[in-house]
Amino acid sequence: MQTQRGIPVSPGVAVARAFVFDAGDRPIPRRQVPSAETPAQIQRLETALGAAAEEVEAIRDRTRARLGDELARIFDFHLGMLRDPALRDRVRGPVESENVTAEYAVHATFRALAESFEAHEEPFFRERASDLDDLRRRVLKHLVDQPRSTLAALDRPGIVVAHDLTPSQTAALDRRHVKALAIDAGGKTSHTAILAHALGIPAVVGLGDLAERVTTGETIIIDGDRGEAIVAPDAATLLEYRGAARRSKEQARSLLESRQLPAETRDGATIEILGNIEFPSEIDEALAMGAMGVGLYRTEYLFLASHHAPTEQEQYDAYADAIRRLDGKPLTIRTIDLGADKMPEGVPGLFRDERNPFLGCRSIRLCLQHLDLFKTQLRAVLRASTLGPVRVMFPLISNMMELRQSRMVLQDVMEDLDDAGVAFDHDLQVGMMIEVPSAALQAEAFAKEVDFFSIGTNDLIQYTVAVDRGNERIASLYSGAHPAVVRLVREVVRAADRAGVSVSLCGEMAGDREFTMLLLGLGLRSLSVTPPAIPSVKQVVRSVSLAQCQRLARRAGAVDSPREAHTLLREEVDRVVPRHSAGRTAGR
Ligand code: PEP
Ligand code: MG
Repeated sequence: MQTQRGIPVSPGVAVARAFVFDAGDRPIPRRQVPSAETPAQIQRLETALGAAAEEVEAIRDRTRARLGDELARIFDFHLGMLRDPALRDRVRGPVESENVTAEYAVHATFRALAESFEAHEEPFFRERASDLDDLRRRVLKHLVDQPRSTLAALDRPGIVVAHDLTPSQTAALDRRHVKALAIDAGGKTSHTAILAHALGIPAVVGLGDLAERVTTGETIIIDGDRGEAIVAPDAATLLEYRGAARRSKEQARSLLESRQLPAETRDGATIEILGNIEFPSEIDEALAMGAMGVGLYRTEYLFLASHHAPTEQEQYDAYADAIRRLDGKPLTIRTIDLGADKMPEGVPGLFRDERNPFLGCRSIRLCLQHLDLFKTQLRAVLRASTLGPVRVMFPLISNMMELRQSRMVLQDVMEDLDDAGVAFDHDLQVGMMIEVPSAALQAEAFAKEVDFFSIGTNDLIQYTVAVDRGNERIASLYSGAHPAVVRLVREVVRAADRAGVSVSLCGEMAGDREFTMLLLGLGLRSLSVTPPAIPSVKQVVRSVSLAQCQRLARRAGAVDSPREAHTLLREEVDRVVPRHSAGRTAGR
């Protein structure tokens, strides 16, 4: 049994078999079996070698028919290796003498052979080293439970273990089968983490090298509350965590009981709690969790989940679907925020390799350089605006010109629609995200030119403290409790209040109960939250008074260390609203 620690990003506990994604080239762990099991391992080995040889034979025959003898001969070499008695003896050796598993014997033997071929003085052998790697993967495919490289192969319940997953891969996960995610890379607000949280899948990121230590089919435990992955748990641990998984479900159910109660503090202030969504289908759950509308619709997921750039009509249909589901409740549509880690497959030619993609041509910058893309979206948003209360906001605004240009493009599209006699809401509210320090520092000037602000702390933190939000190696430096971040949020709220502009906060902080008191204390009265986190935020709101929150915000703002400030916030919320303990053994 091995326990690996990471960063908890989506709560809940899952116990299931691992599905190691894209681990084709990772080492297979060296595992020994009791000697009584050795004959079974030999049998597995023979079967796998036989199946791989049959596959190669079929490929050779097809190649010969299509491409001729010469190319088919490559596979004669593969077949010769797989059927070579000396090689078969060599692979069997470690199983018989060291009692290792068949997969480890294949992995180690083929690896060693490939290395000796690579170092060979004869070019003939050097050129064939990669063929041996190919053969190794082919034989292993018959020994480990599943083909290892495609998520589509996950056709039964399992825990996806991966070195990394892109947001589009995460979006495509089949929720029926994925019980949890365990990712080696990433931080608390990486988009994969946000999506896992939104999908309600327990997840731990920043696990280092877990994907190298786990084999598909092994049982693992993911504890999304504590940020732990336990590989090959013993019977006592399994029992304990199965109980914990049950209790964590009961706890979530008990929080749900109060989800439709008003989000009102003890001294009577009403807090607006909205939902963050990536897809309109999430709205039903957001409303069921108690959301009063949608404060952030990340429309770029239309692109990330598709193999082509969505047409104006496809975008309109998605927005219309969202508005219908909201049934009169407000919807804030954020214009496309692509680039950096959100790279769609279906829009080739839009992106170039950049040295610093998070500081590069992403988000509103990309839209302003590709006006067709931008205008198509704005037309779809405007047409949908007749169906219900819609607002539009621009992401990553970092200087006044960008805001003015964006508004001008919107104005152009409005005029085109007017000319064409197409109806839209002429009073559509226009807002911007504050997620770059330059925008936060200039909030007063921006407040004169927009109807509302939405503070995106996920990016605001990374740009303020210069810490990549997806880099697990420096994740401990990424903190919403950093005094500089607290100060920026405070100043933005003040600037908005002075100008009479509404302000909400939609970064992941809004859904973290440890920050709820701070945010209320800083003056926020609207939070846009990942839907599964709404009940726990509402519970805090209903248990505190504004005066209490303001005192805490003053104390937190006066602490100069982010860690101390965070501890203060955590201790205070735990004191005011004690966390239900899931009852697991302390100190594990
Ligand atoms: C943010 O940066 O806080 C935000 C909400 O936007 P995203 O997470 O999509 O970058
Ligand atoms: Mg952002």
